[in-house]
Amino acid sequence: MSVLDFIVSLVAPHECLSCNAEGWLLCSECQLKLSNTPSTCYRCALPTVNHQTCKQCQETTGLDAVRTISGYEGAAKDLVWRLKFTGARQAAQIMADLMAPHQIDLNGALIVPIPTATQRVRQRGYDQSYLIARAFSRKTTAQFTPVLRRLGQQRQRGASKSTRAIQLSDAYWLRHYNFKNRHVVLVDDVVTTGATLESAARLLRAAGATRVEAIIFAKA
Ligand SMILES: [Zn+2]
Ligand SMILES: [Zn+2]
Repeated sequence: MSVLDFIVSLVAPHECLSCNAEGWLLCSECQLKLSNTPSTCYRCALPTVNHQTCKQCQETTGLDAVRTISGYEGAAKDLVWRLKFTGARQAAQIMADLMAPHQIDLNGALIVPIPTATQRVRQRGYDQSYLIARAFSRKTTAQFTPVLRRLGQQRQRGASKSTRAIQLSDAYWLRHYNFKNRHVVLVDDVVTTGATLESAARLLRAAGATRVEAIIFAKA
């Protein structure tokens, strides 16, 4: 057990969800076993460098790269489950720690969480992608920018006409919409079809972002 694990265990006793070692929700040894997702284009599975979307897919997607840390199985699945349903916020920190070494160059990047459906957030009291993204931005020192909202979520007063125009085009709207020449990193816990990421990327491109990528903990 590392010193940090030991200190944490005194404050918040935990068992590793994978091997039952005392200390951390997922011990460092079991964390090492998770990072095994090969680098491919997330749409067509062609092997690529740094999880970039391949040249052909780039013509039809706003996403430059989609990185995932693990398959949605075993300890990774348990971790997501704990975060969503048992309120284990420590899980968000573990995910962010595992996601952070996968950065390329996050200098000047904006970290944008993909918002969870409103009703579920209300039931839970927190949005898990928000927690992961915030921990991730602290770790990488890239700017935390939670500006995406699902349609149906409370709109800010005084939203301008152009915000409304962008809002109408998709399942999301942007709280601020000037992303001119910015590099945006979308963060979420699980990716399934990628349709959600695609809509978010379209919106951010429309708002001027020049590079949009996603870093997701698990790929279902
Ligand atoms: Zn373990
Ligand atoms: Zn492809």
